[in-house]
Amino acid sequence: MPHALITRRGADRLRAGHPWIYRSDVLRADAEPGDVVRLVGEQRRRYGWALWSDRSQIALRQIAVEGEIEAFDERAWLDDRLRAAVAYRRALDLDGDTCRLVHGEADRLPALVVDRYDDVLVIQALCQGMDRRLGTLVERLVDIVGPRGILARHDPAVRSLEGLERRIDVVHGEVPDRVGVSDDGIRRDVDVRHGQKTGLFLDQRENHRAVARYARGRGLDAFTYQGGFALHLARVCDSVVALDSSGPALDGLRAAAAANGLANVETREANVFDALRELEIAGERFDAIVLDPPAFAKQKRSVKRAAAAYKEINLRALKLLEPGGCLATFSCSFHIGPELFEAVVAAAAADARAAVALVERRLQARDHPVLLGVPETSYLKGLILRRVA
Ligand code: SAH
Repeated sequence: MPHALITRRGADRLRAGHPWIYRSDVLRADAEPGDVVRLVGEQRRRYGWALWSDRSQIALRQIAVEGEIEAFDERAWLDDRLRAAVAYRRALDLDGDTCRLVHGEADRLPALVVDRYDDVLVIQALCQGMDRRLGTLVERLVDIVGPRGILARHDPAVRSLEGLERRIDVVHGEVPDRVGVSDDGIRRDVDVRHGQKTGLFLDQRENHRAVARYARGRGLDAFTYQGGFALHLARVCDSVVALDSSGPALDGLRAAAAANGLANVETREANVFDALRELEIAGERFDAIVLDPPAFAKQKRSVKRAAAAYKEINLRALKLLEPGGCLATFSCSFHIGPELFEAVVAAAAADARAAVALVERRLQARDHPVLLGVPETSYLKGLILRRVA
């Protein structure tokens, strides 16, 4: 079996529970792209098994620790991990037929995503090792889950960092253009080929209903996409204004609102930064506001600018919020940590002269678990706040 020789720093990282070895911590590797390799440290100490990439800065992703298995059997490894991941989602007893079945490192299947939309699966193999094993992954998923079709959404840009082609293919059965799903009693059609991410923002699924618990009166959903929050708010609010810059996303929201008999949602195609300002000038006020922007800090170096943008929208939203109302504010920027995010929102509240109480801290949904010690698996943070004055 191929070997990779790693530095002491790399080994320390593994011991601390982080499964990645960066290229600078690889001393030598005699392996082909995507190989499973034996990890070897100083004094020939062994550190289990990993997937080798000859391109990415993340050169090795550990898939099993030393002593965990006797001899490596690829099919058994994938089968065990996939079964455990699927069993965990079944145990969550989710209300609906759509969820994330595999969340990469947190399921010990590095760089692999599998989302379920009713009887269709969407797979993303985002490193060389997983890409090379796509056939086995599909075969195991067909056996374990029995889907009608599996779509490989291999369009994410990270595939280029691995030297992998970016393309979208049906890799099993048939995948309709629109997949009808149900989530928490809301029915909608999902375009798994062209929708953002794999079709829906499944990481926010549990936050949609969490926020609805506090909402009433007049609602505003900024960065709505296809109305993940807006549709849930519409069930408890008198009316909801939903903002997004994407026309197709708003088409999806309107179709879903109609399909669910929710006639109280108004969509506005707009840049949220401008729209919040205009709503304030127009004297419009709301009792429940959601801010769920795209990641403003995609890199470490853009943290400062991103923090300013988060502050800006939170400040504007708080100015639109009636006393007694609720603001649910999110950041999915990994580089903006929870403490910084809270500090930014606190600064926005101070500038808006709004006194706010923290009602709930939120994370990504439970089917997107966070691996402790691996900060990269924790990216979504949210605050549900009540304006008290
Ligand atoms: N809240 C959604 C997910 C939002 S994703 C859910 O729970 O399902 C972020 C959305 O913001 C995308 O739909 C994107 O089209 C939109 N967007 C990005 N920048 C924007 C801007 N400046 N103004 C308005 N919408 C924007």
